[in-house]
Amino acid sequence: MVHTILLVDDEQAYRNAVKRVLTDDQHRFLEAASGEEALALLESNTVNLVLLDLVMPRMDGFVFLEKFRGNGHWRAIPVCVMTAWSDGAKRRRAIELGADDFIGKPVDNVELETRIKSLLRMSQYQSELRDMNAQLETKVKERTQHLQASLDELKQRREESTRDSLTGVFNRRFMWEWLQPQLKHAQRHKVPLTCLMIDIDRFKDLNDAYGHHVGDEVLKHFSRVISKNLRESDIVVRFGGEEFVTLLPQCNLENGRIAAERIRQAVMHTQLPSLKTTQLTCSIGVATFDPVKPITGQKLLKQADKALYKAKNAGRNRVV
Ligand SMILES: [Mg+2]
Repeated sequence: MVHTILLVDDEQAYRNAVKRVLTDDQHRFLEAASGEEALALLESNTVNLVLLDLVMPRMDGFVFLEKFRGNGHWRAIPVCVMTAWSDGAKRRRAIELGADDFIGKPVDNVELETRIKSLLRMSQYQSELRDMNAQLETKVKERTQHLQASLDELKQRREESTRDSLTGVFNRRFMWEWLQPQLKHAQRHKVPLTCLMIDIDRFKDLNDAYGHHVGDEVLKHFSRVISKNLRESDIVVRFGGEEFVTLLPQCNLENGRIAAERIRQAVMHTQLPSLKTTQLTCSIGVATFDPVKPITGQKLLKQADKALYKAKNAGRNRVV
């Protein structure tokens, strides 16, 4: 690898002296007679090391250092100051402005050669480190993206496995998972939980008359009407074909009946254009989990189903 060294000195004789020290093909020199010229060369060249004189006309070494270190792109380029001064305050100032090393003038050849080589080696290591760091960052970013994608997919699958694909309300599997801890909670905190079993009246006739496409539309519409008339803590489940279950935590029988009645009326008062003159109605069976006389989830559902059966037998479009 050929290293480019920017030689900044207003005296040609010094520049030549330095160039004579390193004549191998590993080094290439760019020459500037002032800080201004040096900055211009830095703009258009990749430089690995700057050798800098301090006393120069126009822009001296201090002003150059200030401008040079103010540019983030050049932060990693080492600077070795060449000076005849042994003045400590000036040396300190140069270091504070961003110089990395010093070499006295007149230049000792062996010293110059070893300084240059050691500074170039250090800058090489640093650049390798930066590259590795960048690679690592890219890898971490890729992994993170990959993980996020997997997580999203998992969430999506979980969501799909708990929902009815047609209506988007919960499925039976989710309901049983949800109900068990809810009943335990209700019993422990002595609060009721009410179950509504809701069935669309004469759904089979409707399907026969309008076709399955309209039947599906009715089911989606129906589940939306139910959801709209419940609280956020209640859940809606598609239990069977046209049968839905809603579970209302912390709700007693009386309030459950009120909710059921609200749903029944809402269903009756919505119109689906594709149903033309057919009136959509539903029957609802209500059952409540009493924390004083706890029953299983299966039993609760069975009681709601019995009530629904009664509502159907009593002429449909009613709450029992
Ligand atoms: Mg000079």
